[in-house]
Amino acid sequence: MTINAYAVLSSDRKILEPYTYEPQPLGTHEVEVAITHCGVCHSDIHVIDGDFGQVAHPVIPGHEIVGTVRVMGEHVSGLSIGKRVGVGWQAGSCLHCEWCIQGYEQLCADAIDTCVNRPGGYADAIRVDSRFVHPLPDALESVDAAPLLCAGITVYAPLRDVPQSARVGVIGIGGLGHLALQFADKLGCEVTALSTSADKEAEARSFGAEHFVVTTDAAHMKAARGSLDVLISTVTVDLKWSDYMRLLRPNGSLVFVGASPGKVDVRIGALVNYQYAIRGSSIGGRPAMREMLDFAAQHKIKAQTEVMPLAQVNDALERVRTNKARYRVVLAV
Ligand code: NAP
Ligand code: ZN
Repeated sequence: MTINAYAVLSSDRKILEPYTYEPQPLGTHEVEVAITHCGVCHSDIHVIDGDFGQVAHPVIPGHEIVGTVRVMGEHVSGLSIGKRVGVGWQAGSCLHCEWCIQGYEQLCADAIDTCVNRPGGYADAIRVDSRFVHPLPDALESVDAAPLLCAGITVYAPLRDVPQSARVGVIGIGGLGHLALQFADKLGCEVTALSTSADKEAEARSFGAEHFVVTTDAAHMKAARGSLDVLISTVTVDLKWSDYMRLLRPNGSLVFVGASPGKVDVRIGALVNYQYAIRGSSIGGRPAMREMLDFAAQHKIKAQTEVMPLAQVNDALERVRTNKARYRVVLAV
């Protein structure tokens, strides 16, 4: 059994090249998924660039995977041959620590990432622990479902804890951000999009944003002060976070899902006086994933995608790097 993939062959390279490998023998809890689609998440670029630390090469990125089960280990349950499934950022955990038991598998000390130090989804197949393989609702098309498996769950998990009718701002309207607008809207929030790209306004409104703030426009930022209960950052860069904290109402929170590399420099007096909170959020556990897929199917939430063949993976990555994708590139295998 040979798997045909695209990989970065060594740490001094950023270009992906065709690469074939023989997978490890199928574990008793594993399935082999024949891949049809894989979304291109900015985390794939962070992995390629070494932003998440040293990783073993070759790197086969890809963790928004959709396909069908074609081989099953003997202890696999709840799946069947031909079943349409998805795989996200997480491919394993211990399944018995306090976090796994509570359904926060992403916090497990033994969490395994789908495409870090193991082969990911820019390929025609993947072998993966069936307990992190998610059956897809029939109502979701495969191409639409792929981005939900990382971008979708990552924004849904913090939003599901937000009170209905909260005023929610989303910073960065990319792959994660455009799904965050849709989830927040359908969860009953009053939604504000905050973007450096003025030309995204009409689409942001179509995704459910009631307000649109051009963050490079000082007058826009000033007008938005004190207007939000929750601000979710999906950006990949460092911003002047103290300016964003000023957009919050008392008791507001700034939630980081984007992997900005730097630090938050915020006056502690402001945190005390206005009872602001700053927190992070990492993907979501298995229960949240299944809930998110059902919620997306029920409310017709789907990524706006650009579909490209797997063979054009380098062009696809370039579109994401340069903020040209509208709003998620999905590779078709
Ligand atoms: P993406 O599609 O590239 O979107 C990022 C958005 O950030 C861009 O569309 C852009 O929005 C904004 N942006 C880019 N450069 C900027 C700049 N110089 N200044 C201000 N804004 C800028 O990326 P993505 O796939 O959504 O991923 C976003 C981040 O989330 C990545 O760091 C990724 O690693 C991280 N992530 C985290 C988790 C988690 O578990 N926490 C899961 C998945 C991904 P505008 O054009 O609207 O300004
Ligand atoms: Zn991702």
